[in-house]
This record gives sequence, C-alpha cells and structure tokens, in this order.
Amino acid sequence: MKTIESLGDLAGKKVFVRSDYNVPLDENGEITDDGRIRAALPTLKKLLGDGARIINAAHLGRPKGQVNPKLSLAPVAKRLSELLGQPVVLAADTTGEDAHAKAAALKDGEILLLENVRFDGRENSKDDAERAEIAAEYASLADVFVSDGFGVVHRKQASVYDVASKLPSAAGLLVQKEIEALSKGTDNPAHPYTVVLGGSKVSDKIPVIDNLIEKADRILIGGGMAFTFLKAEGKEVGTSLLEEDKVETAKEYLAKAKEKGVEIVLPVDEVVAAKFDRDAAGDVVSVDDIPADKMGLDIGPETVKLFASKIADAKTVVWNGPVGVFEFPTFAKGTAGIAEAIQDAPGFTIVGGGDSAAAVRLLGFDESKFNHISTGGGASLEFLEGKELPGIAVLED
Ligand code: ADP
Ligand code: MG
Repeated sequence: MKTIESLGDLAGKKVFVRSDYNVPLDENGEITDDGRIRAALPTLKKLLGDGARIINAAHLGRPKGQVNPKLSLAPVAKRLSELLGQPVVLAADTTGEDAHAKAAALKDGEILLLENVRFDGRENSKDDAERAEIAAEYASLADVFVSDGFGVVHRKQASVYDVASKLPSAAGLLVQKEIEALSKGTDNPAHPYTVVLGGSKVSDKIPVIDNLIEKADRILIGGGMAFTFLKAEGKEVGTSLLEEDKVETAKEYLAKAKEKGVEIVLPVDEVVAAKFDRDAAGDVVSVDDIPADKMGLDIGPETVKLFASKIADAKTVVWNGPVGVFEFPTFAKGTAGIAEAIQDAPGFTIVGGGDSAAAVRLLGFDESKFNHISTGGGASLEFLEGKELPGIAVLED
C-alpha cells in the first residue's frame, strides 16, 4: 500500500483527502460523537504541517443525490476547525464553481472542506462512467489523492475508488493504521488467537467465521447468533433469535472446527426475559433449561467467566459483535464483562464492528486500553472476512 511519503514533497501541492466524517447528529444538528473527526486529525495535521493545501471530501448520511441542508457538512467544518485550531473553509458545493474558486484561493497549510459528496448522485452511482465523470472533477481540483476514510474503503465510490486512478494516490495515516492493526488478526496472527463473535444474526457473521476458522484457535460465540449454534447442538432455545435455515450451516462449522482442532465455545448460561424490552426482568438459566416462552438476551455470568478464561492468555484477540442486547442496561453485563476481559488481556486486542465499538464507548470503557478499535464497521467486517476492499486495492504499489 502506498503511503503519503511516496507522494514526495507536498509543500504547495493541492491534496484531495477523502475522510470519513459520517458522524451521528442529534435533532438540532449537533454532533453527538466526534470520534471519526478526531480519527482524521493525524493525516490532516501532517499534511498541513508539510505546507500542503487540503481539499477535504466526505459524506454525511444518505442524501441520495439530492442537496439536503440537514445533511450539510457545516457542523463538521465547525468541529474540525475547533479540533485543528485553524479555519476550515466550507465550499457551498462539491465540484461546482464555489469549490473551484475556494480551492484556487487556498494557501499553503490551509484546508477547504467540500460539501457532502453524496449531494451528487454520481458519487455512489452504480454506473462506472458516471463515477468516472465526477472523479475527474475531483481530480481537477487537486494534484494528488490521499485516501483516509477507512469507514468507506469497502465502497466502490468516486471519492474513494475512482479518483485514485486519476491522480497519484496514497493511503493516509488512519487507513494505514487500520490495515496494520486489523492485519494482525488475519496475517500470521500470534497464537493463541481468540475470536469473540456476537451480534444478532449468524448470517451476517458466516463469512467471518469462514475466514477466521482457518486462523484462530478459539471462537467464542455469544449474542443472538449463539442460539442457532445451540440449536445445532440439540438444545431448545425458547423464543430467542434463531435462524432455522442456518442450523445446518452451524452444524457444519462445529464439525469443521472439531476436525481442525479449533475450539468453538458456546454460552453455558443465558439471561432470559419474557419479551424484548428495555424494562423486562432478566433471569439467569443454564442453556439446557431455556424456558419455551423466554428469550436469551445476554450471556450469563458463568459464560462471562468461561469466555474470559479463553481471552486471558490469548496473544491475539479479535472481537466483533456484542454478546447481548447491550442497549438495555439489564442485558449489558455480558458485553461489559467481555470488554473488561479484553481490556485486561495482555495480547494484541482488536475491536471491529460498529456496534461493538459503540458498546465499548457507551459502557464507559477506556478506549486506550484496547490496542485497536476500528473506525469502520462494514469495512472492518469485510476485512476480517478476507475480502478485498476496493478502496485499498487501488492504493497498492
Ligand atoms: P457489530 O456492528 O459490532 O458488527 P452487530 O451489528 O452484528 O454488531 O450486532 C449488534 C446487535 O446485536 C446489537 O444491537 C445487539 O442488541 C444485538 N444482540 C446481541 N445479542 C442479542 C441477543 N441475544 N438477542 C437479540 N439481539 C442481540
Ligand atoms: Mg452493527
């Protein structure tokens, strides 16, 4: 992967930087979590310090090719300016007159943010020619391209993918850091290697299981997806989430794991409730005694202990997917227990997946205690699946 250094001296050069500023906004349009903006700072600061002129591009939400003032990058420009400690000029359009005029007026060490790239439907068009057209317009604004929006590198979109073939290109520091860290879970991982999987659906995580069963020593399965595996082991799961059509697949993975000497560890107890509700009461039961009219919404305390013991001595830990409905405090203890075990683990620890990263923050954990918390939900998942990410493939040397 090409790095910023490969672009040579950038003083006075116009650099088109794709970042991921797809931050959550409240009803007043205020940013509620600026984590993604903060994650973009190292690359921007380096480039500005080197005397580059930055033309920054990003999307916000799903405006579907329409200009939508509610999805303007104005709040992002304001927050970015505060974090950088210098003005961030916002263009009124993406590749129009105002963008060109403001890009031309940039001086060394200054930054311009283009308006939401998804206000123009060509940005994420399925049509290669349409994307090529707007990519050429982006390219006409700059001398080189730096790709730093890790959260979008799995997307074949004009400001992520197509523009790279029109300008000398390189990965920014965030993309570089993400790939380096996530690779520790996919390329020659240090053993023992424990993977913790959760989330609601087995079907979402099958490609990850498929890839990591070849590399991991232990796969711990919690969350809603565990019930399809428990069913595959002949257990009754009450009204818990169950993908009937994936029970056979789960059986195949259990058999494959056995054959390869990979331990698949399933919950031994569950916190069950009568309904999927924030205020539902939770009872701890063994997975052999899940009542027919109840659903498992979190792993139980014995499972937390069991999983923690498989995490404590691991040299590599990858965690993808909350092990319970962490959004409801009654059912967040399992996820908190796993987060605690992972933060205390001496091995290299990676958290991938949007909801898992959100859980770490929501439950009040210190993010610095994890070696890597990915900024990309879908992108990190696809990386762990072993898929080629288009926005990374275009940056190969
Ligand atoms: P990530 O975004 O980290 O990849 P997922 O999107 O796969 O994670 O899954 C997150 C969701 O899974 C959460 O909203 C959580 O409430 C849900 N979940 C976890 N355990 C259960 C369960 N036992 N029953 C229902 N939903 C669950
Ligand atoms: Mg998710």
